[in-house]
Amino acid sequence: MSEPIEFLEAGALASVLTPDMPGRTLDYRVPEGGIRVGAFVSVPLGPRRVKGVIWGPGAGDYDPGKIREIGTVLDVPPMSGTMREFIIRVADYTMTPLTAILRLATRVPGLGDPPGKRRIVRLTDERPTRMTDARERVIAFLDEHEGMGFAPSELAGLVGVTSSVVKGLEAQGVLQSEAAPRDAPFPMLNPDLPSKDLSADQRHASTVLCDAVRSRTYGTTLLKGVTGSGKTEVYLEAAAECLRAGRQVLVLLPEIALTGEFMARVEARFGAAPAEWHSGVTQAGRRRAWTGIAEGRARLVVGARSALFLPFTDLGLIIVDEEHDSSYKQEEGVLYNARDMAVLRASLSGAQVVLASATPSLESWVNARAGKYARLDLTERFGAAVLPEMRAVDLRVDPLERDSWISDPLADAVRTRVAAGEQSLLFLNRRGYAPLTLCRACGHQIGCDDCDARMVEHRFLNRLMCHQCGATKPIPVECPACGSADHMAALGPGVERLAEEVERRFPEARMAVLSSDITMSARALKQRIEEIANGGADIVIGTQMVAKGHNFPLLTLVGVIDADLGLQGGELRAAERTFQLIRQVAGRAGRADKAGLAMVQSHQPQHPVIQAILGGDEEAFWQAEAAERQAAGAPPFGRMAGIIVSGPEERETFDLARALAARAGVLTQAGAQLFGPAPAPVARIRGRTRVRLLVKAPKGLPLQSVLARWVEGVVPRPNYRIAIDIDPQSFF
Ligand code: ADP
Ligand code: ZN
Ligand code: ZN
Repeated sequence: MSEPIEFLEAGALASVLTPDMPGRTLDYRVPEGGIRVGAFVSVPLGPRRVKGVIWGPGAGDYDPGKIREIGTVLDVPPMSGTMREFIIRVADYTMTPLTAILRLATRVPGLGDPPGKRRIVRLTDERPTRMTDARERVIAFLDEHEGMGFAPSELAGLVGVTSSVVKGLEAQGVLQSEAAPRDAPFPMLNPDLPSKDLSADQRHASTVLCDAVRSRTYGTTLLKGVTGSGKTEVYLEAAAECLRAGRQVLVLLPEIALTGEFMARVEARFGAAPAEWHSGVTQAGRRRAWTGIAEGRARLVVGARSALFLPFTDLGLIIVDEEHDSSYKQEEGVLYNARDMAVLRASLSGAQVVLASATPSLESWVNARAGKYARLDLTERFGAAVLPEMRAVDLRVDPLERDSWISDPLADAVRTRVAAGEQSLLFLNRRGYAPLTLCRACGHQIGCDDCDARMVEHRFLNRLMCHQCGATKPIPVECPACGSADHMAALGPGVERLAEEVERRFPEARMAVLSSDITMSARALKQRIEEIANGGADIVIGTQMVAKGHNFPLLTLVGVIDADLGLQGGELRAAERTFQLIRQVAGRAGRADKAGLAMVQSHQPQHPVIQAILGGDEEAFWQAEAAERQAAGAPPFGRMAGIIVSGPEERETFDLARALAARAGVLTQAGAQLFGPAPAPVARIRGRTRVRLLVKAPKGLPLQSVLARWVEGVVPRPNYRIAIDIDPQSFF
């Protein structure tokens, strides 16, 4: 979209937003020649120089005698008005300071540096023989910017030391110098290479999406299609149309689905590789992608959640694949849902959004039903591939043996597959060896010292681990409570324990475990998944990460070890999550020319959710879920915010929460309800107490402004925090 060029004349005041000064803008004097609003600049801040964005005319609230002049204008395209608007709207929606959102939007090393030639230094493991204050500051700064390299003069400037300090550290081997690679250009993508021959359903969906893209207006479409129905083929055609129109395309995937296989597919369609943005991309790669996107040279970007904050110049299409995936919700720092923010960004850019999923989120399903989103359905798998048969294994009829988690019918099915050279996937959404370590003499359960979570045994590590804070400790021989020796027992299964059973029962089979806590780089993990997809294992054991959009062509059997697991705990999204997860996992089976079978082990196969999973009457399931949420006034029919109050002392933390509760009148007068305070699901984490409040409001209420007024009246002491989570994913 074109926007009015805002320009500030020399000598005027400009407000600058910089991630280095949280929560507010700073006024500076505009230098000779004037400056564009949105320009990236370097400005003096105390003894340092920091980077920021010209946000608008100065606020004029600072002593005119102390106003300093803007330093240099960085050599990158100015931030567009649309992008500034997006940042403001996300900050408002998530109730987060603007600077925190700006940080998301400028997370790129060496912003504005000329490409190529520059020499950078990085921290090594060496430490100086004699530590000085200046040296310590340099090391601390680099520590904070984990692994990032800086030009020596830039580093000295940023830390506020002389360049001789940096030189000295280099001479001692504490810093090591290297040449930053020159940015390679982005290859042209060709949208007119031959596409696959689409089926009638696929062609219809593709035509509708392409028309929408050509309209250059905002719109969101839910593309619902069973796994393997060709959603990817269809949205790649919409991407092609967007490229033809000369606009940019963003494909968002859950981090784990960003596989080489997916990149290869995109490359095959367009004749060249797209830009990538995810945790596996190197610093140099990030810089290249960021600048390429800002200059409009990178036209197709495939990325994870945070790619939404890249500086697109003319975004015409955003695809959110596996839109129901809970990893789109960022749960730390800025609490945002990339799916919802994608819709916001598109509406500001006159762009189309495609939300693709086999099992959409209830929110999207309801939005489609209400006509806010368009909806396209692909009901059949492409070609010969048919949907897997779903079969329940009633564990009351086929009970498990002691310390065994695979029933006989499932074991038989696995054996048949192994003999036929086909793959089986055993799905258990529980990491580690055993979820519980307990003393058989006194019943004591080993918990984390810093959280109120139980410690999970990890045999690969030979330690107990807390899944909340990551703390580990050795597996005790004696009970820490009663002192009796050799009575500690592991209870229940995790994937590691399941792996033990598989080794015992299928010694001839090659086995692979895919669990998110297996310490592997994102890249190594992707490679491992590809090996498995190419036949590198007979039996795959996996947690929920295997549910996410990867093709396993040899896979013909999926065994769900414990379908009841997700239904415990009374969590409001439990049914939706279980339904999505198991349907997704089952969808991994029988993708190629062989029919698949999904066996679902359950103690309560008559449970409505399990029945919906087995019967596959998805619309009926969503209808029922929607009705239940509507009756409860829960999202998406009402609005919710979770408030987490945290601090080092339990008493004071509860006092702070009660101080908020005492002001509930502000909420109730506006028509909202307050629940709590109550201990958060994890009431203690990393030694901090966490207390939770829940605010429920009718749909039309301006929730954020009401919350702001409510929270305003309570000022936490240092080290105590009030964090607001709009649209929380979990409600307890
Ligand atoms: P989804 O994204 O819905 O899971 P995909 O787009 O990955 O489905 O399609 C599943 C498989 O079927 C892929 O290997 C894909 O290349 C293939 N496929 C889908 N549609 C076609 C088509 N029209 N022609 C050829 N192959 C297709
Ligand atoms: Zn004991
Ligand atoms: Zn812990």
